[in-house]
Amino acid sequence: MKIAICTNESKKSQSVVKELIQKINAQEQLTLDYENPQTVISVGGDGTLLKAFHQYKNKSDSIEFVGVHTGHLGFYADWRDFELDELIVSLCTKERMKVSYPLLEIEVLLNDESKHTYLALNESTIKSVTTTMVCDLSISGELFESFRGDGLAFSTPTGSTAYNKSVGGAVVHPSIPAMQITEIASLNNRIFRTLGSPMIISENEWASIDLKQAESYIVTIDHIVVVRANIQSIRYKIADQKIHFASTKHMHFWNRVRDAFIEEVN
Ligand code: NAP
Repeated sequence: MKIAICTNESKKSQSVVKELIQKINAQEQLTLDYENPQTVISVGGDGTLLKAFHQYKNKSDSIEFVGVHTGHLGFYADWRDFELDELIVSLCTKERMKVSYPLLEIEVLLNDESKHTYLALNESTIKSVTTTMVCDLSISGELFESFRGDGLAFSTPTGSTAYNKSVGGAVVHPSIPAMQITEIASLNNRIFRTLGSPMIISENEWASIDLKQAESYIVTIDHIVVVRANIQSIRYKIADQKIHFASTKHMHFWNRVRDAFIEEVN
């Protein structure tokens, strides 16, 4: 089993990585390989796992991710730092269970007709740099509404507990293959009208926005920020590709939600 480790700068993470490397080196079946890993272990938080995903996303079909958290309990980082021995045993087990979650595919069409495709684990957002964003939002090719406001967020189920939740989106169970569209400060009055509530669309549908102004836009893909001046339209859909996690004794999802947002689960 070839393993790569991604981590953050924190002292705690660095010391967990040191211990993890010692334990990997002590096992004949496990080797460190940062070029062609079969398993990528992220040590840090959910943000660290997002970065690990983007580092290896081109190979993510053949990779299993494992998240060890060194801060508070994460949604992607769900192994604890005191469970390293158990993690090593699990990595040495051939018949391991895995869980797969949906990703978001974002296709940006520029005015010169060139296309740029991105993959997000949490979400993609779009905002206008200076003025109110004006766009037509279509679902599966049919015009749904004309949007005016700060912007829109398009989230995966696992991203529903991230930025999506902060802008009033619903928390979605990660096994539901759907995309959530959430408004960011929409303008609603007698002249301009949008649905005004988040929408969850199925994996067989897609959403697209046609931008109405020759403006600069800030497009985020998870933690990555792209500023572009010449966007014509963007199409969002649940990707064919998925992210795979080496299955753990995964905590009950709604307990994890409770633990993260309401109170600690004993
Ligand atoms: P970041 O500092 O890496 O992350 C911001 C916070 O979001 C961290 O506490 C991180 O958890 C948490 N987070 C990341 N993915 C999550 C998920 N799926 N469910 C619940 N919490 C999650 O920020 P960044 O590098 O700018 O952007 C990374 C992500 O952070 C974005 O994809 C976005 O979803 C989120 N974010 C949220 C807001 C907001 O809610 N207003 C603002 C900016 C970014 P850890 O501490 O475990 O890393």
